[in-house]
Amino acid sequence: MKTTAHHVIPCSLDGFDIDFNIIHLNQRDHNLVHRILSMPYWRIRKFRFSNALSFRKDKKYYERLLYILSIYFENIEKLPVLLIKKHKKAIAEMVMILNNKKYGYSVNSNMTVSYLLKCYCEVLLLISLSRENLI
Ligand SMILES: [Zn+2]
Repeated sequence: MKTTAHHVIPCSLDGFDIDFNIIHLNQRDHNLVHRILSMPYWRIRKFRFSNALSFRKDKKYYERLLYILSIYFENIEKLPVLLIKKHKKAIAEMVMILNNKKYGYSVNSNMTVSYLLKCYCEVLLLISLSRENLI
């Protein structure tokens, strides 16, 4: 069956355009995912606008990112178990890859989505802070 590529963390919410952030779904499941996981456009605009000037991503930025991602994923438990698993696995893998053994995060796809998102945003913050220190 033909599959389509779906970004787990939406690109409009700063998701990376890399393999680890992409899962492959048939068209029916893909439509279902977008019906259950959705975000009003005004929220995305508001998020973009409030961060338009924050070229240096700080703690507050990642708190706002976590907040908006939590809203985006708030209905994920309404998806079929297999699709929930695929999303969790992708987020857990991204945390592990971004963590790169440096920050001590250990996650797996049995953890809740909200916990995985928290780890994801914390790891992104740590990476951005460590880059700052290099300058
Ligand atoms: Zn999609």
